[in-house]
Amino acid sequence: MIKDDWFTVQFIDENTYAISEYGHWEKVHSFLLLGSKRAILIDTGLGIDNIKRITDQLTTMPIEVITTHVHTDHIGSHAEFARIFVHKGDEDWLINGIKGLTIEQIRKDIRRDITIPTPVTFNPDTYRPFQGKPTGNLNDGDVFDLGNRRLIIYHTPGHSPGHISVFDETNGYLFTGDLLYDETPVYAFYPSTNPADLVKSLERITGIPNVKMVYGSHNTLGLKPVILEEVRNAVEYMRDNDLIKFGTGIITFNGFSVQF
Ligand SMILES: [Zn+2]
Ligand SMILES: [Zn+2]
Repeated sequence: MIKDDWFTVQFIDENTYAISEYGHWEKVHSFLLLGSKRAILIDTGLGIDNIKRITDQLTTMPIEVITTHVHTDHIGSHAEFARIFVHKGDEDWLINGIKGLTIEQIRKDIRRDITIPTPVTFNPDTYRPFQGKPTGNLNDGDVFDLGNRRLIIYHTPGHSPGHISVFDETNGYLFTGDLLYDETPVYAFYPSTNPADLVKSLERITGIPNVKMVYGSHNTLGLKPVILEEVRNAVEYMRDNDLIKFGTGIITFNGFSVQF
């Protein structure tokens, strides 16, 4: 297995890797999915270090990047890849910058609470999130055929307008981006988020059949599918108690929480 100063590479199975950044408070995961013909990288991390250094060691196949959503911690190494895809709803942020976030705020967040040495190439004073045109768009229902595995795109807005989740139908892996993870609240409390959409998206992923493992983009790597039952209960609870609106604060459930 690869040893690296910044990234932690973990085996999910022989064709699926998590590339994690545990040295940063956001504990971000990116995922490399190898098919028989091509490879998909779900997100490219914080951009504190170059994730391509890792993916180059894991495959020689052409890599296409699927963006779960356009926030700084998911597009860090996008510039290193020739083919990147994003949902229309977040495309403007990819090209013109993330709305509602100043560069000062981004630099403050990227540099704080780092627990391991950062690469010499990282300078938080000059750090800039990737900006550029995507190769193409991701649409709800799109299928990525990797030869021996099929990925299905679900448009799951709320955390951002163009947020998507990826279901690896062949292996039963559901990659939920920032729609669902454990330990820290899922964010839908700032102006570019939408609590009602987030809850609809949460409800939607509970209807995906044959999910064997849920992979969120932060914190614990891999959640048992029982979390989707908790999500279903949570959606019902939030509706019954009229909680789905800005200002409700943090609502904690069994295994995850949301912040409106
Ligand atoms: Zn995000
Ligand atoms: Zn994130």
